[in-house]
Amino acid sequence: MAPSYLEVGSSGKPGAVQYCGCAMLPASDKSSSRCTAEHLRARCDGGKDVLENVVAACWLCNNRRHRRKVPPAPEDYKRLVRNRISRGRWIASASAPVP
Ligand SMILES: [Zn+2]
Repeated sequence: MAPSYLEVGSSGKPGAVQYCGCAMLPASDKSSSRCTAEHLRARCDGGKDVLENVVAACWLCNNRRHRRKVPPAPEDYKRLVRNRISRGRWIASASAPVP
């Protein structure tokens, strides 16, 4: 994980995906809203480790997306996450510590 990926995401440049819209914490943080580099196409599915395939997403969004058998397209997943948040079914606190 190169630091440049995280800079791209946290600076809000085009291409950065922030599914939940929460403020991402530094990657060194231990909480679920820490910034992670997400592969749009997972490496195990043949996704390449290139900037075009990597976006910044918080740990929770990243994890939940890839927990699905077929990760939804970024735009679809973003809609899904926002929908859950609006119904109060995402997380109570984005900064809850991760065990
Ligand atoms: Zn998130």
